[in-house]
Amino acid sequence: EPDPTLRPDRLPEDADRALRPQALEEFTGQAEARANLRVFIESAKMRSQAMDHTLFHGPPGLGKTTLAQIMARELGVNFKMTSGPVLAKAGDLAAILTNLEARDVLFIDEIHRMNPAVEEVLYPAMEDFELDLVIGEGPAARTVRIELQPFTLVGATTRLGLLTTPLRDRFGIPTRLQFYTEDELDLIVTRGSRLLGIPSDPAGTREIAKRARGTPRIAGRLLRRVVDFALVEGEGRLTREIADRALTRLGVDNLGLDGADRRYMMLMADHYGGGPVGVETLSAALSESRDAIEEVIEPYLLQQGLISRTPRGRMLGARAWRHLGLEAPKPATP
Ligand code: ADP
Repeated sequence: EPDPTLRPDRLPEDADRALRPQALEEFTGQAEARANLRVFIESAKMRSQAMDHTLFHGPPGLGKTTLAQIMARELGVNFKMTSGPVLAKAGDLAAILTNLEARDVLFIDEIHRMNPAVEEVLYPAMEDFELDLVIGEGPAARTVRIELQPFTLVGATTRLGLLTTPLRDRFGIPTRLQFYTEDELDLIVTRGSRLLGIPSDPAGTREIAKRARGTPRIAGRLLRRVVDFALVEGEGRLTREIADRALTRLGVDNLGLDGADRRYMMLMADHYGGGPVGVETLSAALSESRDAIEEVIEPYLLQQGLISRTPRGRMLGARAWRHLGLEAPKPATP
């Protein structure tokens, strides 16, 4: 029986918060990053100092924001959050920095999209906890130095390559997040269904884990949709059959690829003989931004060996041809 306290009407809003792990102990996967963070957090607490600046990089939805929040909680400090594109002027960042309390965590999402003038302000702030503010204009302008409380900057980026070197060098703890294994995602989905009060079969959670593209955010989203189907069309239980039916209806195939992934691969197969094709060409033909292709679509296809990157462009792998049910063109005879 589904939990009677479950209110399907308030699922989407609250579910994300409900599913978010609150402590490092509850955070599944990323074993290496987690073990290292545990040490750095403990050490900072023993020294009563701000933890070193930390950079999380990796595809969207792998837990960068979640880990930053967990860091603040474990350090026992405030968590402040902003993002690169939101900080339009140097003054915007200065206002945030001067309001930080000692050892607070400041999280800047999409830090690769920060305006250069804002980034300039960040350098002395990160290095010496100082701010150089220009007051006034023209010949009367002068610089005032403001002391800041020591703080921890946590940056997140999906595109490490777009970070400027001086910014990158100022992070003491660069951490790459990896796609999750099926077992890890299964644990996350099982925990999620428990938190949502929906009984589940192991084969049901496994089906979602298999098709979640290695990404907890996607696992959470699919879980919520499967729960909808389980409540409305099933017996309120997450079974393999319900999961499969729901995911198929949502256009998620047995490798976890969605419509955008398949359009990308079909385009390469149909129009470019499997490549090599430049990313700009793909972007124009798919009407998807280059960023979306490089940050969202390609990382998982690369990790799965469905495509490869060559100096001349993207190539479709043998596995992708099989998945599309198409015959790969014969390599030119030598
Ligand atoms: P990112 O900042 O990398 O885009 P988030 O931290 O926002 O990703 O995580 C996306 C979603 O996935 C959140 O709802 C979060 O609760 C969930 N999530 C991420 N990592 C985990 C994990 N290791 N275990 C359980 N849920 C996770």
